[in-house]
Amino acid sequence: MTEKFDIVPLNEWGMFSLPPRPCVIAGPCSAESEDQIMQTAAGLKEFGINVFRAGIWKPRTHPGCFEGIGVPGLKWLQRVKKEYGMKVATEVASEKHVFECIKHGVDLVWLGARTSANPFLVQEIADALADTDIPVLVKNPVNPDLDLWIGALERLHRAGIRKLGVIHRGFSTSEKIKYRNDPLWQYVIELRSRFPQIPVFCDPSHLAGSRAYLQELSQRAMDLGLEGLMVESHCDPACALSDSKQQLTPADLKDLLENKLIVRDADTSDSAYRETINQLRAKIDVVDDNLIHLLAQRMEISRKIGQSKRENNIAILQTSRWDQVLAEMIEKGREHGLDEDFIKVVFNAIHEASVKAQE
Ligand code: PEP
Ligand code: MN
Repeated sequence: MTEKFDIVPLNEWGMFSLPPRPCVIAGPCSAESEDQIMQTAAGLKEFGINVFRAGIWKPRTHPGCFEGIGVPGLKWLQRVKKEYGMKVATEVASEKHVFECIKHGVDLVWLGARTSANPFLVQEIADALADTDIPVLVKNPVNPDLDLWIGALERLHRAGIRKLGVIHRGFSTSEKIKYRNDPLWQYVIELRSRFPQIPVFCDPSHLAGSRAYLQELSQRAMDLGLEGLMVESHCDPACALSDSKQQLTPADLKDLLENKLIVRDADTSDSAYRETINQLRAKIDVVDDNLIHLLAQRMEISRKIGQSKRENNIAILQTSRWDQVLAEMIEKGREHGLDEDFIKVVFNAIHEASVKAQE
């Protein structure tokens, strides 16, 4: 049984203003030096970014990589607040991190994907944040498990946190895909439809893993009606100590947000209709993407079956097996309100292509 969430709207967090979408959090993957922080923040402030992110403690795959600058970086964030009037945000993964953030006046914290997959850590962080008013964003866990993500939100909510939101950063996969992490947008759509009051940020940087895909992923997030974007930006991405390939200069981020991203927001009843249609179309696009993916997977398996039949000298077409599959699909379709003729057309077409692929 999941519980009801009582959430403070994003506009009342004291750092975002909606509309227009997207609310943006931007800044480097990691705080590396005082110069890098101040230079990046200056570039972002110049075009109106008000919430600055920087990783202080970095969860790296291998030991010995740059694991974050630690507490000294929090002093640089204090300078960003003081000199540019920006709000500052960082990732917390333990009680100790939370206490340091409170001590140094960090305005927003987020739980990283590896942390939100760990209920012990989430509970420890929730307890440490219990008496504060700090907004908290929860990244999806690395593995595609909606309940684990919701469970993390429940722990924070039970600790009294009401300025609560999520960040979609995609899911680990062993499949070869063009992005660093699999978007699996259907998880966000499901979360949104169950808890429409929870603000959703998209992190196109960790989804993409490469600058080349930031625009299409940010666009998809806007088309799905998500409220915000968290984007990694570095004054000199080529020299970044972490996530170098996915970071944008502040100037390139400005170009993406101001010239490339198309954001349709509802204002009149007529555009409310268009907004609804656009969001529904974006959902259809996600389903279509998934269909293609599943068809390709099916075809791949089918080719393997073909190879095995060849090796064992067995005929390609096994009509009794296919009649049985089709009958099952018609029955399952009926349970979901799908017309029998429609199922026959679709599955016969799939079958025909499969037989061809086995020849
Ligand atoms: C980050 O935001 O820099 C980060 C480490 O992200 P994630 O937890 O999504 O991997
Ligand atoms: Mn990063």
